[in-house]
Formats: sequence, C-alpha cells, structure tokens
Amino acid sequence: MQELWSAALPLLRQQVGERNFLAWIEPIRCACAEHDVCLEVPSRFFQDWVTRHFLSTIADTINRVGGQSYSVRLVVNETAASQPRAAEAVSAPETVARSAQKSESDATKAVRNPKIGRLVPHYTFDGFVVGPSNEVAFKAARAVSAQPGKRFNPVFLHGGVGLGKTHLINAIAHDLLARYPRMRLACLSAEAFMNVLIGSLRNDQMNAFRDRFREVDALILDDIQFLAGKERTQEEFFHTFNALHGASKQIVLTSDKAPAAINGLETRLRSRFEGGMIADVKPPTLEMRRTILRAKAARQGMELSAEVAEYLARTTGPSVRELEGALTRLTANATVRGVALTLTLAEELLGPLVPFRKVSVEAIQAAVSRHFGLTVGDLKSERRGRDVTLPRQIAMYLSRTVASASFPSIAEKFDRDHSTVMYAVRIIETRREADTSLARVLIDLDVELREQPPTTRADRR
Ligand code: ADP
Ligand code: MG
Repeated sequence: MQELWSAALPLLRQQVGERNFLAWIEPIRCACAEHDVCLEVPSRFFQDWVTRHFLSTIADTINRVGGQSYSVRLVVNETAASQPRAAEAVSAPETVARSAQKSESDATKAVRNPKIGRLVPHYTFDGFVVGPSNEVAFKAARAVSAQPGKRFNPVFLHGGVGLGKTHLINAIAHDLLARYPRMRLACLSAEAFMNVLIGSLRNDQMNAFRDRFREVDALILDDIQFLAGKERTQEEFFHTFNALHGASKQIVLTSDKAPAAINGLETRLRSRFEGGMIADVKPPTLEMRRTILRAKAARQGMELSAEVAEYLARTTGPSVRELEGALTRLTANATVRGVALTLTLAEELLGPLVPFRKVSVEAIQAAVSRHFGLTVGDLKSERRGRDVTLPRQIAMYLSRTVASASFPSIAEKFDRDHSTVMYAVRIIETRREADTSLARVLIDLDVELREQPPTTRADRR
C-alpha cells in the first residue's frame, strides 16, 4: 500500500501543481491495509481542505495506479503527520531517505531563495531540452540570467500550457541566484502578486508593498494573462514596472498569449511589454519529445526502451506536461505491479498507437498551399520556381513524417516519381537542422495539422 501511495505521488504532483503538492500532498502519510487506503493528515483544517480540494483527485489517481477501486479515507493523526521530519526518521527507514533528501533541498533552498516567491528546485537550465520550438525563448532566458537588466528588458515569454514557460523562468531565477547570490529577486505568479496587493490594500500597507516590490533587482512574474480585467492590480503593476524598468532592473513575464492577444490588458502595459523582447514557445518536435522522455526517465532512474519512448513520443498530446504525465503513469504502474516497462504495458494503459490525429496527404497539401499562398494545383504542377519548389518539398516531407504515407503513395498524389519524393524528404530533413526559420515553419504546420479537436483527445484517455 505504501508502494501504491509512493507511485501515486509523482502523478499527483503533476495534477495539482508543485505548490499545492508541497503544501497539501507531501505532508500526508499513508497508513493502510488491503483495499482500504487510509491517509493520515496533521490537522482537522488540513483534513477539510484536502477533502474539499483534492480528495477526488487523490482517489482517482490511486485507483488508476492500482488498477482497481480503493476506498480512500483521510484521518487526522496529529502525531504522525505533523511531526517534524527528524522525528519520523526514527519510525520507518523509508522516511529516513525522504527526510534526508528533504533537509538537503531545504538547505540549498535556504541559501538560494528569492526574496519574494518560491522556486521549483528541479526547474533548471540543465533539465531543459532545447530545440527549434523553444530556442529563441531559451536564448532570451540565458541572456537575462547572464546579464540581468542589460540586453533584453523586459522579456516576455508566451505559449500554450505545459510548454515550459514556468520551467524557464525558474531556471532564470536559479541561475541568477547562483551567479549573484545577494541578488534580491521576486519570482511569483501574477495571481500571487495580486493576492499580496489585495492583502496590503486591506491592511493599509501600500507603502510597505511598494517598498517591497520596488526594492528588488529582478522581477519575474508568471502567467500575466491573469491580470486581464483586474484594473487595480494592473495599475499597481504598471507603477512597479516603471520603477524597476527605469532603474534597469530586469523584468521577465510569461503569458499564455502574446501581449496583443490578451483581452482586458491596458494599452499602456501592452506597449511596455512590446517594448522588450518577445519570444514564443511552441510544442516540441518529435526529436525533442524523445530527448525529453529520455531525460525524464533517467531522472526517475528508469530505463526506457527505444520502442516505448517512440510510442510515448508519438501518442501523447502536444504539451510536455502531457508527455510527462504519460511517462509517469506508465512508470508508476510498472513499479506498483512489479512488471517491466514494455510496449504491451504502455498500450494496455494508454491505448493503441494512434497518431495525434489521422492526417491525410490531401490535408497536408491543403495546409501547405494555404500557408504559402499557393493552390494545391501549384504543388502538383510542373512549375519549378523556388516559390513552389520549397513548399512542394515541405508538403512531401510532411506527408512522410506527419501522415506516415509511403513514398509511392506520396509520389502518386504529387504526380511525381518516388525518387523525387525521397530526395525532397532528405533535403528538407537536412535543411531543417541548419535553418531555424524553416524549422519553425515546419513546426507551425505540424502543430496545425495535428491539433486535435478536444473530444477525440478525451476519448483517447
Ligand atoms: P507552462 O508554464 O508553459 O505551462 P511548465 O513550465 O509548467 O509549462 O512545463 C510543464 C512541464 O513540462 C514541467 O514539468 C516542465 O519541467 C516540463 N517541460 C516543459 N518544457 C520542457 C523542456 N523543453 N525540457 C524539459 N522539460 C520541459
Ligand atoms: Mg506555467
């Protein structure tokens, strides 16, 4: 049962997010038997909170990991769960390792904590896989931590959920604190910023609020889209921004959309954001997904066979979070059942190998010609100018890599012979490595083609 709980933990961590996990899930102890999972929590308040916010997620996760239905109970045990960790170490060997780990990371955190906010320890540059979909954002992040306030200010990173924005800003913060240990850093979500503001307004402590935020050397604010429509917070943020920017203090912001696309954002803020460096983060390419999987598996001490990695890289949704979720589910399940991480297990758990969406060569021809302002007829024609040759080769390449069509069938649909198709695929493959703008066009098209309607994605679960 302890195993079941341990295996559920990484999944819960992903589902509830790092902060909730540390606050509400990690302190829970599992003390249970057979089909009854009994979870010990330190107080009544804790019990109420977890019951209201996390119990159904916890139960679902345990059932999923264990492959059967358990009854999950939360009981208050003031001595067990709330004891300082040193005391636990006496009772069970398993907790010794845990508390040792914990105190070690506490120690490192104590030295390298931002003045305001909190960092996720393992979101570092080292653990970040870079490729064509995120290299501009990555380079901007690197430039910021190497020369804060000097090169790009502000830096605005945007992109869909689960693509690594929070990871990148944590990495910036870690790196800044490693290089400049005395730096006063604020790294928090826009929501937390607003909460601090509301608290200060309520307690009539606005001067303290201003001092606190305007005294930092760098301000990193996550998920700024949250401020949309929140006028009072935007107003205060605007002044904070100006004070810091005017003093050449580094500002980094993230959002799920580009500044211009955030409705309810004041124009003056938008133009401030647009005055700096804006970089977007896109879903990773297949190669990056493979690398990410290898890295994550290695971190968990698991060996991942090439076929299982390929399976995961190809079947899960476009975000890295989903990719990680699938890997964690798989490894947790294999650990609990004591079985090997095989393709059969993966298919049993995550469904048979289906690409994101069945993409046809015709759909690719349509998307590519639309993208380049051509007609499908142009792609199939004999025309040879560069304005049609490149799109044609791209379409052939995508027919092979995204639609997985055979060379002869692609050849037929482009009215060419199959050696021409092979040549096109090879040439795009080579050029993609060297030419970032081509790589980005390919990613855009890839994402556009594969993006699933939500219903099908849910079905696949
Ligand atoms: P976002 O803030 O954009 O929604 P996160 O930064 O929370 O996304 O990333 C979601 C998860 O995916 C995190 O666990 C993060 O470590 C991981 N991740 C995202 N991109 C990468 C990457 N390029 N390399 C390694 N891990 C990544
Ligand atoms: Mg985030």
